[in-house]
Order: sequence, then C-alpha cells, then structure tokens
Amino acid sequence: MSNCAVVGINWGDEGKGRMVDLITGDYDYVVRFQGGGNAGHTVINEYGKFALHLLPSGIFRKNVVNVLGNGVALDPENLLSEIETVREKGVKIDETNLKISDRASLLLPWHRELDALEEARLADKKYGSTKQGIAPFYSDKYQKKTVLAGELFYPAELKRHLADLLEWKNLIISRVYGAKPHTMDELDAWLEDYAYKIKPYITDTGRLLRDAQKDGKSIMFEAQLGSLRDLDFGIVPYTTSSNTTASYAPIGSGCPSVKIDEVIGVVKAYSTCVGEGPFTCEWFGEEAEKLREAGGEYGAKTGRPRRVGPIDIVATRYGVQVQAATCIALTKLDVLSYMDKIPVCTHYMLGGEQTDEFPFPAALPDAEPVIEYMDGWKTDVSKCRKFEELPVEARKYVEFIEERIGCHIGYVSVGPERDSIIIR
Ligand code: GDP
Repeated sequence: MSNCAVVGINWGDEGKGRMVDLITGDYDYVVRFQGGGNAGHTVINEYGKFALHLLPSGIFRKNVVNVLGNGVALDPENLLSEIETVREKGVKIDETNLKISDRASLLLPWHRELDALEEARLADKKYGSTKQGIAPFYSDKYQKKTVLAGELFYPAELKRHLADLLEWKNLIISRVYGAKPHTMDELDAWLEDYAYKIKPYITDTGRLLRDAQKDGKSIMFEAQLGSLRDLDFGIVPYTTSSNTTASYAPIGSGCPSVKIDEVIGVVKAYSTCVGEGPFTCEWFGEEAEKLREAGGEYGAKTGRPRRVGPIDIVATRYGVQVQAATCIALTKLDVLSYMDKIPVCTHYMLGGEQTDEFPFPAALPDAEPVIEYMDGWKTDVSKCRKFEELPVEARKYVEFIEERIGCHIGYVSVGPERDSIIIR
C-alpha cells in the first residue's frame, strides 16, 4: 500500500490534526518527523477533544503504530503529561502502539529556560517563540550538544555526557544571560522523574519502518506547522527551527529510503497566523474579530488570538510548490458562511508591480494584497457530504482556489467532527 504525508501549506493550524485523524484508519504506521511541543493539533473524536503536541494523531486508532522519529524535539516531560491526559480519556497507549526513535535527541531542562531568556533579551524584536525550548534545542542538536534517547540505556556514559553538557551550558546561562546555573542534582532528578520513564517506548524506528515496508505496510507522515514556517523555505527568521516539508519526512522518521506516494497539503479556507512576522493579508478591527470568532481562532498551545485574513493565493501556491503537494484538503469552509462577499487575495503588489511570486523574506513586508471578491453563500454548509450538495457559490469558491493554486482539492472540510467532510 502507498505512503502519504499530511502537511501544512501555510503558517500552520490549517487543520492537519483533523485530516490526519480522518485518514489514519487507512494506515498501519503514523509518524511524526519534526517539531516538538511548540504547536498543537486539535483532534475531535469519540474520546473527546484533544490538543496533541507530540503524540501522533494515530494514537486514537486501534492497530495503528505511532512513531516519534529522530527529527522530533523529544521533550520527555511534555510527552509524559500528554500521554497521561490522553490515557485518562480511555485511550490505550503502551509500547506496542507508541515507538520513540533511539536517535531522537532529548530536549533538556535548560532549553525551555534559554528560550525565555533569549525572548526577554530581544524584547520588542522577538520572533514569537512559544517558549517550549525548540530553537535552543535544534541549535544544540546541530552543534551535537544534546543527548540521544538511546543513551538512556547507557546510564554511566549518559551521566558523563550530561556533566560535560552541563559545564558548557552553564557558561552560557550564567555568563551570557546572568541567570542561575543548573546542577547535576537537578539533572539526576530530571532523569528519574521524566527521561527514564520513556525508555519502554524507545526503539530503532529505522529498522521498524524498513521492516514495515518489506511487509507491505503503509505509513503516514504527519507534519507540524506549515510551509511558511519551514526553517529553509519559510518566512525567515519567523520560522520554526525544523523542516516542515514533506521531503524531510523520510529523514526525520529514521527511514531515509522510504518513498512518499501522496502529499496531502492542508489549506484553510481563509488565512490565519500565530506569532510574529509579515502576514500580507492581515485584517484588523471588527472585520478580523468577526472572522476570529466565527472560526474560533485561538492558539491550541498558547490560547493566543490568531491573526486572521482572507485566503492568500500567492502564499498558498508557493506552499503547494514547496511541499510538492499532490492533493489539497481545504478546511473550515463552513466558517465563511456568514460573509456576504468572500475576499480572495489573488496577487501581491510589490515595488509598484503586480506579482504572482511569493517574495523573498526581506521583501515580504513591502508586499500589498490585491483582493478580489466572490459571492458568498450565506447558508449552513456543515451538513453537506457531497460536493454537489454545496451551494453553487461555495463550489465556485473551491474551484477558483483549485485553479489558481494549481492543485486538486480532494477534500473539503465543513466542520470539526470526523465525518464533516466532502471527499471529491
Ligand atoms: P492543526 O495544527 O493544523 O491541526 O490545526 P488546529 O489544531 O489549529 O486545528 C484547527 C481547528 O479547527 C481545530 O479546532 C479543529 O477542530 C477545527 N476544524 C478543523 N477543520 C474544521 C472545519 O472544517 N470546520 C470547523 N468549523 N472547524 C474545523
């Protein structure tokens, strides 16, 4: 059977969690390959409503093996508390359905603190960190200054390794930021309270996925955030510190040879953005407030009100290209039902010229949106289950976006519940 990646096309929060939850039943393995506790997927199903941060969304499905790959920022503290929350609702989580890569690097106690110290130093120039330690974690990973999950099986070596890292990190914490140094006692407590507790889940996920491929099993890769937050191709420096693109999934899963057959790009029917950075289509005031309320646009992790605006064709087309999306899932179409006219940003104006190209990050703040309006439908579409059941105006809106972004819209979501979906 074929493999698939579900990725965000825009700034994140497109509704990936809901899409993954819908189709996980068709896959044997669901793999998270990047990111950490810094963003949340919202999933609503028969167990309740969940904001997942680290756990793959396949955790709710029986017979699905969930994998946290080597590309993930593995925060044992966050992971254990998430496992507890989900278990409390009656979901089974044990070493048979959750696997952690032995090559995943561990997010250490000082990473979260360093995030907060650096944001405080940056003051009004801050990049909008969620203070989950993600940027300090990834920079340490690339400096080879963190530990691998598999090292938990070598406690004596691990203690020596941690003592070296502690000495180095304390120089930065105390001399650069003037904060209180960490101690080995704190690290010992952290090992006992959190890190050693994830040991039962740790395995060689590379081998696991290679064997799965040989046995003809199917794999779904689940991304966090969206194309525009990708470390290399996003709106630098307002990106995350990992690669959110489908092409990174094989690397971050532990199985670089795996082939992805289908890339489902998730796009919201309007634009939202959490955090800092240029957001060309942004609405303010009453218009923004209405859309934010209609869509319930508040961050899953932080509760922060999201910035909102009309759908942005320029950014979305770029996101589709970056992800090499083969199919689009358009979410939250129902939210637009209150509008008389539906705005669409079709182009940008930049330097006095109209452009279809998504600008280089340094030029992006000068881009102005060109807005066209389409007729609204002003009816509840949340009960529609077939494309033909949608009002003609809603169909035209979907078809217009599809034509402009150059990718087939295979799913139209009209509500948060698992079955509130139109498959085309
Ligand atoms: P993710 O990180 O990409 O999964 O995005 P979020 O966690 O922010 O999920 C988007 C939010 O929208 C969640 O609260 C979902 O339950 C909700 N949602 C997803 N699809 C739809 C939809 O089609 N209509 C409505 N009304 N809500 C949706």
